[in-house]
Amino acid sequence: MDRKYNFPIKKCPRCGGTMFTVRQRISGNGEYYVDMATGEIESTELHSGLTYRNTGKYAVCTDCGKRLFKIDDSLNVIE
Ligand SMILES: [Zn+2]
Repeated sequence: MDRKYNFPIKKCPRCGGTMFTVRQRISGNGEYYVDMATGEIESTELHSGLTYRNTGKYAVCTDCGKRLFKIDDSLNVIE
C-alpha cells in the first residue's frame, strides 16, 4: 500500500522538528502459547485481538509539543 499523505507543513514552525506524535489508545486482550516440552513461546497472535484507536485529535510536535494541525483516525488532515 503506497499512500501519500498530504500534511500542511513539513516541519514544526517553532522548533523545526520533523516528527509529530499521535496519542493512541490500545485496548483488548492478547494471548500467547507455550510449548510444554521446550518452553518455546509462540506469540504471533499476541496483538491480533487489540484495537487501536487514536485519542489525540492533534498532531503534536514530538520535539517541543506544539500542536501542529488536526487529524482524524486515518491521519487525514481536518480543516
Ligand atoms: Zn516543535
